[in-house]
Amino acid sequence: MQFDVREPELAGDAIGLSLPQFRAVEDAGRNAPTKRGLGATPEKLPAAPAHIRAGGRMMDSHGRTILDLRISITDRCNFRCVYCMEPDVQFQPRENMLTPAEIIRMARVARSLGVRKIRLTGGEPTLHPQLTDIISGIRAVTDVEIAMISNGSLLTRQKLSAWKRAGLDRMTISIDSVRIDRFARVTRSTVTPEDVIAGIEMCVAEGLTPLKLNAVLVRGQNDDEAVELARLARHFGVEMRFIEYMPLDSAHAWDRSLMVTAQETREAIEAVFALTPTNMDDAHSTARTFVFTDGAPGRIGFIAPVSNPFCGACSRLRLTADGNVRPCLFSTKEWSVMTLLRGGASDKELANFLIDVTWTKLAGHNIASPQFVQPERPMSAVGG
Ligand code: SAM
Repeated sequence: MQFDVREPELAGDAIGLSLPQFRAVEDAGRNAPTKRGLGATPEKLPAAPAHIRAGGRMMDSHGRTILDLRISITDRCNFRCVYCMEPDVQFQPRENMLTPAEIIRMARVARSLGVRKIRLTGGEPTLHPQLTDIISGIRAVTDVEIAMISNGSLLTRQKLSAWKRAGLDRMTISIDSVRIDRFARVTRSTVTPEDVIAGIEMCVAEGLTPLKLNAVLVRGQNDDEAVELARLARHFGVEMRFIEYMPLDSAHAWDRSLMVTAQETREAIEAVFALTPTNMDDAHSTARTFVFTDGAPGRIGFIAPVSNPFCGACSRLRLTADGNVRPCLFSTKEWSVMTLLRGGASDKELANFLIDVTWTKLAGHNIASPQFVQPERPMSAVGG
């Protein structure tokens, strides 16, 4: 299969910048020195014990097994969400990005090690001009569930239908506000909540379900919208998930006082709609889910990595768009697989690499500890 590795095209006006301004930001990003270029593994990755490598599964030293791989296919995004990416964020040079063929190969190797689910993320994955090829390529070489998370701003029935035919199983759409002024302020884009809601309707119509919606509530921004967002779950019969604001913003402006806890969000929703726990969450699930006690369709999910960490059941590994494998969202260390991929490594060597990285996974992210150090790279670069 031949893949064209052109840069994803971005619409400058979608992020409130003129195209020349946007290009200037991109150029600054490209020309900036990067600590993580090709082959920039700062330390030698220690090998996992021989019996772990021989087991052919990605197991860590705390007894957890990786079943879920999140692949960021681009670091570019057309939003600049206040809790994620500052307007002047620097992008990686395009030659540092994994090609579709490299992404597909990593997916195949991960599947051979027991991965059951792959989530395509970014940046904004729908900006990638070869997204359909990436999905169909992964589908051709694996039987994993393929999910994708998007900001929902660039969806059309035609694209969704092509992705579904290519092998996409389901979508998650992020929506942080249903009020036009708020939405613009939080996302720093000219996209409207109506645009995203139209995208949600299209996903449902296309059968890219079970559909999940994600929101991050930030104090002083959209912290009073829990109920309005919960109404989306009831209206569309989907799961609306509230993710606690995590210290993964490019501005490093996160502060605990800005975070709206899952408990607080639950109380706000329950003041209007009583909730009943489903008690059916998968052990590895990030969300604790609830149904509406009045029998309305839809669900509410709470993802509380800060107030109630779920590291003990973590089954996730992340591959960044520039070919680094991160054992944890909050890792301050990541390991470059680019050198192997572009240096003629065999599948066995790639598999051993993934096993070795998994073995380095720490027991937890330690956000609560005074020793916690925020990772240098934001969520947009890591892939949420
Ligand atoms: N562009 C896509 C989107 O908007 O969903 C995919 C990438 S985005 C980084 C993935 C998810 O990460 C989104 O649901 C977003 O709200 C969440 N996210 C980003 N920064 C976050 C932060 N600091 N804390 C919590 N969630 C965050």
